[in-house]
Amino acid sequence: MDPKQLATERFTAVEAELRDLSRWMYEHPEVAYQERATSERLVAFLTAAGFDVAYPAHGLETAFSARAGSGGPEVVVCAEYDALPEVGHACGHNIIATAACGAGAALAPLADELGIRVRVLGTPAEEAYGGKVDLIEAGAFEGAAAAMMIHPSPMDLVDPAALGVVHLEVEYQGKESHAAFAPHLGVNALDAAVQAYVNVSTLRQSLLPTDRVHGVIVHGGGAPNVIPGFTSMAWYVRSAAADRLVELRRRVEACFEAAAVATGCTVTLKELGHPYVDLVSDPVLVELYAANSAALGRPMPRRGPDTPMAGSTDMGNVSHVVPSIHPMLDIHSLPAVNHQKEFAAHTITPDGDAAIRDGALAMAWTVVDLATADRWDELGAAL
Ligand SMILES: [Zn+2]
Ligand SMILES: [Zn+2]
Repeated sequence: MDPKQLATERFTAVEAELRDLSRWMYEHPEVAYQERATSERLVAFLTAAGFDVAYPAHGLETAFSARAGSGGPEVVVCAEYDALPEVGHACGHNIIATAACGAGAALAPLADELGIRVRVLGTPAEEAYGGKVDLIEAGAFEGAAAAMMIHPSPMDLVDPAALGVVHLEVEYQGKESHAAFAPHLGVNALDAAVQAYVNVSTLRQSLLPTDRVHGVIVHGGGAPNVIPGFTSMAWYVRSAAADRLVELRRRVEACFEAAAVATGCTVTLKELGHPYVDLVSDPVLVELYAANSAALGRPMPRRGPDTPMAGSTDMGNVSHVVPSIHPMLDIHSLPAVNHQKEFAAHTITPDGDAAIRDGALAMAWTVVDLATADRWDELGAAL
């Protein structure tokens, strides 16, 4: 039988289970590096699908590495499964994880016949810290011929751009005092945080269209009658080009330092997790994925000048070491977009389920094409 047809049959046999798993994840969101119950469930699925699973893997408690196939080029399918604080699976990583498991289940029984190895790699902490960077550093991608994943979105796009990002923690230390009886003896750390926010807002006029700077006050004080002696903020600084990101970060940090000078506080800047870099889509993987997705009834547009700006992903870092793709799959959520509760609710509709199927099968069929047409040597032209 045709390997694509076989892969489709294997996927269809587990599709209902994957839909249930996606719903279970929606109902049990776990944030970055806390994905204990989630990783356990995914590992149980992959073990039952015939994978040889290492869990935990690569020194990360919630990472796993599921292998099938005994020789030949290795394809890594990345499963993300962390949720966001407060809004749950509002980035739809329940769809990413189940599509990755579905692609794996479709390919595992064919791996030896195709002369390939398939690995479903559980990659925690995409929304914070950058789990894939930890995995790269631990050697998880060494020797891989290709890496792939899909991501739900309000639009189809086979080759999205992603911005580089640094995650900053900013702390102001001042001095508490009675806000009415002796305000002059206090040093107001909330004033510093507010001034920092205003400074960055002022900087916005000189940002490029491919820059993004956004932050929140994490701790703003304890009581209105106590001058806050300590405040903390979390900021993301993003830009499309690596050198621009360095420059932008310098200017944003100057905003934080200026607020400390103005208020008499001291400031501490700390980088949280790993920086993410831009995403490089491999042209051969893009071509094959787009053709297979179209054959499944989901034509995938390519990026153009009017394509809206993307976010950031640690898959960008992977794409610089292994030929990669990260297509975005429309779940018809508009007006809801990623990181809204309404988007999370949309991941468990028939449109969300369709993204699991289309993503899993287009990835599996792409791997079948790589193997049957022996196109491995063509990969990596963009690196
Ligand atoms: Zn996200
Ligand atoms: Zn995401």
